[in-house]
Amino acid sequence: MSSANAPRDPAQKKGPFAFWTERPLYVRIVVGLVVGVGLGLVLGPDAKTLDVPARLVLRLLGALAPALILVAVIQALLKADIRGGMAVRLVGLLALNTLVAIGIGLAVANVIRPGEGASLARPDRAPAVRGDVLTQILDNVPDSLVKPFVDNKVIGVVMLAIVFGIAMRRQEGHLRRTAEDLTALAFDCLIVVLHWVIALVPFAVMGKVASILGTSGFAPFVALGKFVLAVLVALALQATWYLVRIRIGSWVRPLHLLRGTRDALVMAFSTASSTATMPVTFETLKDNVGLRERSASMGALVGANFNNDGTALYEAMSALFIAQLIGVELSLWQQVLVIITSVVASVGAAGIPEAGLVTMTLVFTAVGLPTEYIALLLTVDWFLDRCRTAINVMGDMNVSCLLDGKTKQEPEAPPPEQPAVPAPTSSPEGS
Ligand code: ASP
Repeated sequence: MSSANAPRDPAQKKGPFAFWTERPLYVRIVVGLVVGVGLGLVLGPDAKTLDVPARLVLRLLGALAPALILVAVIQALLKADIRGGMAVRLVGLLALNTLVAIGIGLAVANVIRPGEGASLARPDRAPAVRGDVLTQILDNVPDSLVKPFVDNKVIGVVMLAIVFGIAMRRQEGHLRRTAEDLTALAFDCLIVVLHWVIALVPFAVMGKVASILGTSGFAPFVALGKFVLAVLVALALQATWYLVRIRIGSWVRPLHLLRGTRDALVMAFSTASSTATMPVTFETLKDNVGLRERSASMGALVGANFNNDGTALYEAMSALFIAQLIGVELSLWQQVLVIITSVVASVGAAGIPEAGLVTMTLVFTAVGLPTEYIALLLTVDWFLDRCRTAINVMGDMNVSCLLDGKTKQEPEAPPPEQPAVPAPTSSPEGS
């Protein structure tokens, strides 16, 4: 069972660039940032051309996004074990949490207005942010199976993913297994390629920081600092929402939850991957908090595949931030469009590091914002990714607790003191 995914290439890693590639990504990004500041100060406006790697990275992320969303949603649908009334409740809880997250994100971004006053140059072509939401939605219903991928239309891609995911679920026997294997293969390959692109991010950060500093000075970075603060405030509000809901709607007490699941939360922050954290989330909910296995698995294993509130909040805030930065006022309707696409994009965001950054390109495309400014966010995304991942995981915990209801499960029949004897022989005490 030594899987093909086992640590594969210790020898490969020891290449001439091992001193660089073996550093954690955030260290490489910070180095890129520092070098970028130096280059920007030295070169001034001449640093403008250094933003080529950032443009390249964004193109590549944009190219990977539709395929990643397609495969992630299909895979989640294939793996999901959802039945009956609990499924309906689950969907309701997920939808409410995501809408609250985006509402909080937009409200905080509208109040703090982190992007205002940074006077970043508008792009050459005026951003075509269209306001007719209904037409936008109808436009997104695919009239071709490939067009949503060509046009990078996130809503259309998710629609296709859901339809084909359900169709694949209906297959049986070897066809079903083939569908699962092929999806898993496609997902793994996409992640490998995504890692290659992510490896370029430190260089993109270096070039983008130099180019912005050289041409616009420090003002955009002050704005970026405000943006980071705004996102942290919004994520904290979202965490508060979860805990209040848990206190009101379940038997679990918030402090008990935080204490019991701290391993999962710390792991989410340190790995920036809610998928990697999933087993720990499940175990801690079940063993430390004491949720019923079914509720723990519904929230932590099923919900985790669709539930990325932190990501949704971040995508909505980023769109507003960049619009403020380039002096574009998004109308209420346009913000509604941001909401819809952020919900959809967060459903499609796989629980892996930087997935939100990938799907963000689709949110920007949908509302007509220029994706090149996402490059500015590369500088802080490594940190905000960790924070929003912790909130994504907390969202799964919230759903599990609410599904568990207001009464704690009765302790199981075997008394806790019973020695852990392996053989399940008939109980001498007669049950
Ligand atoms: N890293 C996040 C997660 O694993 C997804 C994202 O990039 O927003 O949940």
